[in-house]
Amino acid sequence: MDYKAKQDLTGKLALVTGAGQGIGAAIAEALAATGAEVICTDILRERAEATARDLTARGFAARAEALDVTDSAAIDALAAALPPLDILVCNAGIAVNTPAEEMTDAEWDRVIGVNLTGVFRTCRGFGREMLKAGRGAIINIGSMSAEIVNVPQPQCHYNASKAGVHHLTKSLAVEWAKRGVRVNAVAPTYIETPLLKDLESKPGLVSRWLEMTPAGRMGQTHEIASVVQFLASDASSLLTGAIINADAGYTCI
Ligand code: NDP
Repeated sequence: MDYKAKQDLTGKLALVTGAGQGIGAAIAEALAATGAEVICTDILRERAEATARDLTARGFAARAEALDVTDSAAIDALAAALPPLDILVCNAGIAVNTPAEEMTDAEWDRVIGVNLTGVFRTCRGFGREMLKAGRGAIINIGSMSAEIVNVPQPQCHYNASKAGVHHLTKSLAVEWAKRGVRVNAVAPTYIETPLLKDLESKPGLVSRWLEMTPAGRMGQTHEIASVVQFLASDASSLLTGAIINADAGYTCI
């Protein structure tokens, strides 16, 4: 068995949502560095272009598209304009702290709309073409918050959206398993990205979190990107419907 070849993504076409910064930019880098041609998308075109520019400057194959994951028409139009993807990474997400009793309908709808409905619409739009081609790997970015309640952060909409992403992942995996499309998810712990800027305003929260984490640390973006790269490659060919906890042991306790 050629184990090295299994990890190689040469000749594969990948698309990453929310690739303008943070975890998405690292995922785009990991896929491109192992051979894939990567379409970097983000709600902000300039951000997607910056990621793609950085990758092409390093000799990797990348290009940028603006894409709002809540916009079904834009997703379907882009899916129709591209060859079927080999790899789709649904990474775009938002996090907002709001106590449940103060949450407006608009706040609830916005977080569910991007984090859960956005993942569904993206999987549906690009998944149709992948099903027609009879192949592909979809990786959704969930969260440890799908499994546990992160007490200091009032985010019931975020937690519910991520639990939905995990179950959506399993549901699509079962529906599409016999048609060649694998669907898996990664559930990260806290990863140092702009999404966590809120944490800096809460002294003590980070140290408390670290005490509660078996490995005693947060994660880095490249550590999530490596797991996604594995799930995108033939090295994970038997995995579908898997939710991989990348959380330094947090959800074990
Ligand atoms: P970032 O905020 O750093 O990056 C997410 C990117 O997605 C941003 O560029 C953001 O733009 C963009 N985005 C937001 N809304 C949309 C949309 N509707 N369509 C397309 N793009 C959009 O987040 P992270 O890199 O930290 O997070 C990436 C994923 O990982 C998210 O799904 C998040 O929930 C998940 N995650 C993150 C953890 C962490 O600790 N960082 C932990 C567990 C899970 P803008 O800045 O304008 O919103």
